[in-house]
Amino acid sequence: MRIIVCVKEVPDTTEVKIDPETGTLIRKGVPAILNPFDMYALEAALQIKDEDPDTEVIVVSMGPPSAEKNLRDTIAMGADDVYLVTDRAFAGADTHATSYTLSEAIKFIGDYDLIFAGKQAIDGDTAQTGPGIAEWLGIPQATFVKKVRELRDNSIVVERVTESGYEVVEVELPAVITIVKGDRDPRLPSLRGMMRAKRAEIKKLTSEDLPVDKDKIGLAGSPTRVHKIFTPPRRKGGEKWEGEPAELAAKLAKVIREIV
Ligand SMILES: Cc1cc2nc3c(=O)[nH]c(=O)nc-3n(C[C@H](O)[C@H](O)[C@H](O)COP(=O)(O)OP(=O)(O)OC[C@H]3O[C@@H](n4cnc5c(N)ncnc54)[C@H](O)[C@@H]3O)c2cc1C
Repeated sequence: MRIIVCVKEVPDTTEVKIDPETGTLIRKGVPAILNPFDMYALEAALQIKDEDPDTEVIVVSMGPPSAEKNLRDTIAMGADDVYLVTDRAFAGADTHATSYTLSEAIKFIGDYDLIFAGKQAIDGDTAQTGPGIAEWLGIPQATFVKKVRELRDNSIVVERVTESGYEVVEVELPAVITIVKGDRDPRLPSLRGMMRAKRAEIKKLTSEDLPVDKDKIGLAGSPTRVHKIFTPPRRKGGEKWEGEPAELAAKLAKVIREIV
């Protein structure tokens, strides 16, 4: 079994800033972490490897060269290999271009049975990249998965979170699975893992290595533009009225009449 886990490096802040010219993220001076949901995706893949040690867990990330440092942590946790898709030509990608580029990198890595991604990245928050990868690859997907129940010969059975609880879904392999915060927290790196991570090669893939259509990558290949991003103003506290029910009801009715 080969599982590819998509991991994004994100700013370690909830107050992301956008370049007004390009509508893309300003990364300079902002500390970066690996997207927390992707750590749950990696944990889910590693749990499968715990059960079947022949399983290979391969991390793929698209980002700047500096992401290499954080990506080493995935090896320390137990990933076998890491690919960093990095090239100026990929910069400024929206989810359309990102999922296209990642799908080409996944095809390049090849022989995959499962592709795990986080449910969403904590900066862009769109939750579109995982489903986008499935579409580009033409394979099934299950989103918002909290638990892998069972791996069968040609399928996977998972629990998907819904508004009212969860549903159990069987998906044919190969498939894309997007993962929410699970019951088990991502494991800590082992000492052996940390030693391996130090020496491991993070494989780089550029636009020259992948057979990408140059019109579908980076800012130029991105149909979406983020025009404005802002932190919503804090809501003021509501008014509290005290008194007799009939008196309060009349007061409320008066206010409503004034509004409508
Ligand atoms: C504040 C902000 C707003 C944005 N708004 C939009 C928008 O409205 N429309 C739009 O198209 N783009 C938008 N973007 C750009 C968007 O961040 C990029 O397209 C990004 O590469 C993927 O989208 P996402 O961050 O929403 O990830 P999501 O789709 O939420 O990510 C889901 C999962 O996909 C995987 N994944 C995502 N990106 C990568 C990566 N680079 N490498 C490896 N795995 C990855 C991870 O497993 C992740 O958990 C925005 C970016 C920011 C910072």
